[in-house]
Amino acid sequence: MSSSINIPCVSVLKGVGAAMQIKLERLGIENLQDLLFHLPIRYQDRTSLRNIGTLRIGDEALVEVSVSLTEIKFGKKKTLLCRVSDGTGSLTLRFFHFSASQKNTLSKGKKLRCFGEVRPGPNGLEMVHPEYKALDEEIDTPVEQSLTPVYPMTEGLQQNRVRSLMAQALLWLESGELPELLPEHLRKRWQLPELHRSLVFLHAPSPQADRELMLNGMHPAQRRLAFEELLAHHLTLLHLRKKIQAQGGFRFNQPAQLSQQFLQNLAFTLTGAQQRVSAEIAADLAKPQPMLRLVQGDVGSGKTVVAALAALQAVENNYQAAIMAPTEILAEQHYSCFKAWFEPLNIKVGMLTGKIKGKKREQQLKDYANGDVQVIVGTHALFQEEVRFYNLGLAVIDEQHRFGVHQRLSLREKGRDGERSPHQLIMTATPIPRTLTMSAYADLDCSVIDELPPGRTPVKTVVIPDDKRDKVIDRVKLACEQKRQVYWVCTLIEESEALQCQAAEVTAEQLKQQLPELKIGLIHGRMKSAEKVAIMAKFKGTSDQPAELDLLVATTVIEVGVDVPNASVMIIENPERLGLAQLHQLRGRVGRGSIESFCLLMYRAPLSYSGKQRLQIMRDSNDGFVIAEKDLEIRGPGEVLGTRQTGEMQFKIADLQRDADLLERVQELAQQVSQDSVLSEAVTRRWLGAGEQYGHV
Ligand code: ADP
Ligand code: MG
Repeated sequence: MSSSINIPCVSVLKGVGAAMQIKLERLGIENLQDLLFHLPIRYQDRTSLRNIGTLRIGDEALVEVSVSLTEIKFGKKKTLLCRVSDGTGSLTLRFFHFSASQKNTLSKGKKLRCFGEVRPGPNGLEMVHPEYKALDEEIDTPVEQSLTPVYPMTEGLQQNRVRSLMAQALLWLESGELPELLPEHLRKRWQLPELHRSLVFLHAPSPQADRELMLNGMHPAQRRLAFEELLAHHLTLLHLRKKIQAQGGFRFNQPAQLSQQFLQNLAFTLTGAQQRVSAEIAADLAKPQPMLRLVQGDVGSGKTVVAALAALQAVENNYQAAIMAPTEILAEQHYSCFKAWFEPLNIKVGMLTGKIKGKKREQQLKDYANGDVQVIVGTHALFQEEVRFYNLGLAVIDEQHRFGVHQRLSLREKGRDGERSPHQLIMTATPIPRTLTMSAYADLDCSVIDELPPGRTPVKTVVIPDDKRDKVIDRVKLACEQKRQVYWVCTLIEESEALQCQAAEVTAEQLKQQLPELKIGLIHGRMKSAEKVAIMAKFKGTSDQPAELDLLVATTVIEVGVDVPNASVMIIENPERLGLAQLHQLRGRVGRGSIESFCLLMYRAPLSYSGKQRLQIMRDSNDGFVIAEKDLEIRGPGEVLGTRQTGEMQFKIADLQRDADLLERVQELAQQVSQDSVLSEAVTRRWLGAGEQYGHV
């Protein structure tokens, strides 16, 4: 199975000159293999004629019609309108670009065959710029025999051109030069058709093909290619992992005296799950290769203390540890937590965020560089150019969810210290659905803290319409009289942070008037970080100063990680606007003490059917793992991973949800194939191209 065959450049094809070659390059297509792996994004069904009378908006349909009227409309934009009918109904064809001769072709009485998408128009249904062909009455023109592939496009490249190039590439494929990369016995066992047949099938579906399966992406030929694509992505991540591990790392001795002391000083004992995961981490740290581990645990499962134990092991071995948080508030919180835990053990803890400037910053940087500070907490400011560590042995990234795949990999790169890579511990804010850990996080080992500390009372969630606001306010008052603290969370459409902050300001003012006896604070994303930190401190209080605020009006900035055990009531306005994982994360801010906690989801009525269902899931479940799966079902992987905008993890044919059942096998095969670097490279080159892969390590 060799991958070193010479695959001809696209320039061998008829119709590919210099200009076309450039266009194809823009699609990542350099040779015939690239072209053949430029897979259809979907199919059009032109195999049967539809009656206009049966068409619905959004349908893509082939119709046979006769022209009843064609006219040019002179408005803001000159348009050619052509009224057509087929005896079951009529339709307008609308053209914004047209030639004089076109008007003649479309003269009254002419017979046409049109294909296009049905849209609503001022005078009933329309097709805008349909493909059409004038029919000769004498000759019987057959319809297409099979589904028509539709390709991802680039500017100036028409579907028909791609189809005709593909036809030539398929001829070359017949010559049998493109190697099958999946081992035959596995293909047989898993009933995956072979490569050639699958490719031919996708680009030129046979008339006998099961249309339903094809249109849903469930045909065996499609599944086989999806399988190989998932394998390619998996291999890339395994490859990155191997590369890092090959660099070698720092071998730490097992936890010793400091850790003992730390555990003795701790106000609680670790849960069984915390102990198990800590032991997994300790074993990783004792190996000569860098650890690459993901720790998942539900909100409040106690991930921080697990990170602290890992940091201690680094310190015991005379190495530094860095903990990176996604926000300043969280960095601040970790800092005070780690300081309280570590300073009694004579370990120096430092903090670096964007807001620490001037002399103080300089001093911090000096202390990190000469090793005077052993544990460093910060935001992503930690991984800026100017930051030098003395000997970074462990990098902890908390609440990983906020960082995309690329960002995660580039952080890894920056955390590197010379030749060797520090150990890496990545902690997620909320559980990640299994299919996503098996794909997007395939480069990491995974530990799960599947147990909450004892004595937690599950949060009681109530779904309530916002016309009951007065009742909600009474409830808040009652809670505060009982010396509980309350979060009031304002949400708005996420794109508009400014509006969200404004809403929070208005709400805070209203609540101050409605609840004059309460001390009400406000926190939102547009405040300076020092202000935010100060407000959080007032809400939380310290060991020698009780909390000053009863109620905190907040935007979703408090979403992640904030820990105020006495806060036991949370109101979330317009929860229907947030994803389930985000709601769960927010709700996790309460229910941290032993008193019964409440979360009131105050929606704006009326709620859509799916909105109602989503809030019901929140009401019925407190289990982050269950909620994560539902969230994935509802929003899809792009949203859940936070990669929709960046275009990461976009597959040509695979679909993480539809093809989830393939992932086990992909994982199994990837482990085998990754031993064979030639084969492994052939697979990834085929699917991900030569240059653009995840990160460059
Ligand atoms: P998360 O997993 O959401 O990051 P934290 O690490 O912030 O959770 O822990 C939440 C709270 O639970 C903190 O107040 C922490 O001190 C406390 N906690 C952690 N582990 C235990 C335990 N084993 N027993 C009791 N309380 C614990
Ligand atoms: Mg946390």
